[in-house]
Amino acid sequence: MKVPREVGKHTRDKVYSENDPYLPPKGKGLVDVSICKDCTAVYHNKKWFLDAKLYEQKKKLKDINWVTCPACKKTKENVPNGVVTLKGDFLKEHKQEIMNLIRNEDERAKNYNPLKRIMKINEKGGEIEILTTSAKLAQRIGSILFKAYNGEVEYKKHDNAKFMRVEWRR
Ligand SMILES: [Zn+2]
Repeated sequence: MKVPREVGKHTRDKVYSENDPYLPPKGKGLVDVSICKDCTAVYHNKKWFLDAKLYEQKKKLKDINWVTCPACKKTKENVPNGVVTLKGDFLKEHKQEIMNLIRNEDERAKNYNPLKRIMKINEKGGEIEILTTSAKLAQRIGSILFKAYNGEVEYKKHDNAKFMRVEWRR
């Protein structure tokens, strides 16, 4: 059996979401209340919420600023901040279970911050590629898979940590 490896893990505290061109500059937030017309995320008190009840309540207001939220903008323009690639025979045998774990993490991340989410999942030739709007979420998916299933995981930071490429294989 191979010894589990988690390459580059020491960099995990150095991922910043600052300088993200899709986020408004500091102190220049959006108008309260703004709502994303694509995913119904609500911007209120300087934070984004993905909450069906809050959306139902806020969309009845008169002065709503309808926008496309930064996460939907990235998705439309296909500009991910993280790419996680999954490979290996173990993946093929446990695909459903692994994908459930990843989808749960996506839900958790979105509840915490709606701008951090999985944009797209591509499958090609036994490999799975997950695009995320957040470098940190990509890193977290790698870390969760390693914790749950061992295998090998590698993290590569690019562009001042705005972009993270993660590969997990088993
Ligand atoms: Zn949106």
